[in-house]
Amino acid sequence: MIHAITETSFLDWDGQVVTVLYTAKCNFRCPFCHNWPLMEDPEKHPEMKWAEIKKFLKKHDDFLDGVCITGGEPTMEFGLEALMQEIKNMGLKVKLDTNGTRPDILKDLVKKGLVDYIAMDFKMPLDERYSKPAGLEPDVKKITESVEFIINSGIDHEFRTTIVPTIHAKDDIVEIAKYLGNKEKYALQQFNPENTWDIELRDVKPLSQEEFMEIADACEKHVGKLVIRGLKEVTEQGI
Ligand code: SF4
Repeated sequence: MIHAITETSFLDWDGQVVTVLYTAKCNFRCPFCHNWPLMEDPEKHPEMKWAEIKKFLKKHDDFLDGVCITGGEPTMEFGLEALMQEIKNMGLKVKLDTNGTRPDILKDLVKKGLVDYIAMDFKMPLDERYSKPAGLEPDVKKITESVEFIINSGIDHEFRTTIVPTIHAKDDIVEIAKYLGNKEKYALQQFNPENTWDIELRDVKPLSQEEFMEIADACEKHVGKLVIRGLKEVTEQGI
């Protein structure tokens, strides 16, 4: 179920040093996804043995705070609960990344005390527009259920949006910020055209810093905490 690993990351969980584990199934087809080779070509990324991952985690548990499980969409994996339990048994914290399409599984994992932090993609306002970033027609009711559950879960969490110039308008992002409201942490992420799933997006220039910050400024007053990620100088050639 784990097909790739980043052994040490300071970027995937604010303030925490983590190992990142990547699952390889996803029920979305986001055109801007960078992890698509895991889904399209799993043979090239063979499943890793838990025993080896565990050995690494044990060896480095003196400086690791936890493990981030990302994907793909981790809630699609049958062995997710057992994996999280193993990690918790080692005294490490667990962050779960999700696209929010499987609220029942999310609720069950939280109920069982297996999640310390949830990061959920909030890709668009919760209506028919969601199909653009998801790359298919998702069940928006399920995504809404996940958002509402996470907000009221009592678990540390954040919502995040990657802003893609050909997909999002400024108003879409501000609408998400307004929906979340002044108690929520909202992360805005810069789009990176390198090796996107949709090859046409590879020629799309990310927003300039000024354009990005104009959106961020418009969102800031609506949410509890606004976080900006991946914002670099954009040159004529892109990032
Ligand atoms: S939900 Fe995440 S992993 Fe799945 S296609 Fe979208 S960006 Fe990629």
